[in-house]
Amino acid sequence: MDKTVVLALARAELAEFLDRLGEAPYRADQILDWLYRKNAVTFQQMTNLPLQLRRKLEDEAVTGLLAEIDRQVSEDGTVKFLFALPDGHSVETVLLSYRSGSSACISTQVGCRMGCRFCASGLPGFIRNLADWEMTAQVLQVRKWLMAEKRALGGLVLMGTGEPLDNLEALKGFLGAVKDPSRLGISLRNVTVSTSGLVPGILELARLRWPITLSVSLHAPHDELRDRIMPVNRKYPLAVLMDACRRFAEITGRRVTFEYILIEGLNDGAKEARELAALLEGMRCHVNLIPLNLVPGLSFRPSGDLAVGRFAGILKERKIKVTVRRRLGADIAAACGQLRNLYQGSDPDGCRRYERQGTSKGKK
Ligand code: SF4
Repeated sequence: MDKTVVLALARAELAEFLDRLGEAPYRADQILDWLYRKNAVTFQQMTNLPLQLRRKLEDEAVTGLLAEIDRQVSEDGTVKFLFALPDGHSVETVLLSYRSGSSACISTQVGCRMGCRFCASGLPGFIRNLADWEMTAQVLQVRKWLMAEKRALGGLVLMGTGEPLDNLEALKGFLGAVKDPSRLGISLRNVTVSTSGLVPGILELARLRWPITLSVSLHAPHDELRDRIMPVNRKYPLAVLMDACRRFAEITGRRVTFEYILIEGLNDGAKEARELAALLEGMRCHVNLIPLNLVPGLSFRPSGDLAVGRFAGILKERKIKVTVRRRLGADIAAACGQLRNLYQGSDPDGCRRYERQGTSKGKK
């Protein structure tokens, strides 16, 4: 019989489970406290529970915490973790350190089916959705690492491996755990959900009226180019996507963020900048320009500083709010999916580079 995963349960569900074991509901608070505040890893460490209950829990349940397989620490403070999933797969999580605080970048799927042409996560294809508790466990691991450094976790970005809106039910369950004060207790205002442009999911998030930030990966200002680099555009072309984004902004009152990866010679010209400005005209939004991270096996190259500056300048001239994002973790396998690809061997040059990366806490 499958064991109950405690991280999957809200307080009331955990109390019900304990009731079925013949235990008092207040034990739920103690267990949640151990898991979410005191970083307990095993039921045996929950020393204010009677020994008999700890044994019952070991027989009937698992915590759901994930074991760390690997970790790489960048010179700029970015930390990339690789966690083992119970079925033998692995998942990446990244800690991003900014002057304003720290964010955890969470994965939502093992692999991804969206097939964006410039992305390392898509290389091995789609394997499976993550459960909500597998996302929760990633946050707990990053928070534990930060606590050891006497730092706090400021926010969450769902921009790791996978398309969050392609795993919508688990995403909603996870966001429930995020905002629940007895579990992760993080304000949804500090959560960014990224999407490649799955319109039904955007409209569902709008309907929920949760105060998250919606971040749309645009990467091209017209359908012809976007069709080429992001296959999702053939199903939800730009006019339909932009309409959904406007509705999200109207219903939630939240400004939409657009991510635009700058790829040399492909989408970084003055013409594309003007087209992007025209596409976003009159919309309350923010554009993040991100020089591409090099991905082994893919031929795309990052735009140079001159092209990035020119692109940003054209948007600013047209009153579009724009930020050029620092490339974090440039000295480690920085683009999402790369560490996992290295570990699983789907990066053609991976193993050799992996051995050269001295800051890795490798166990290979
Ligand atoms: S960019 Fe995001 S949506 Fe596209 S393939 Fe990569 S992980 Fe999937």
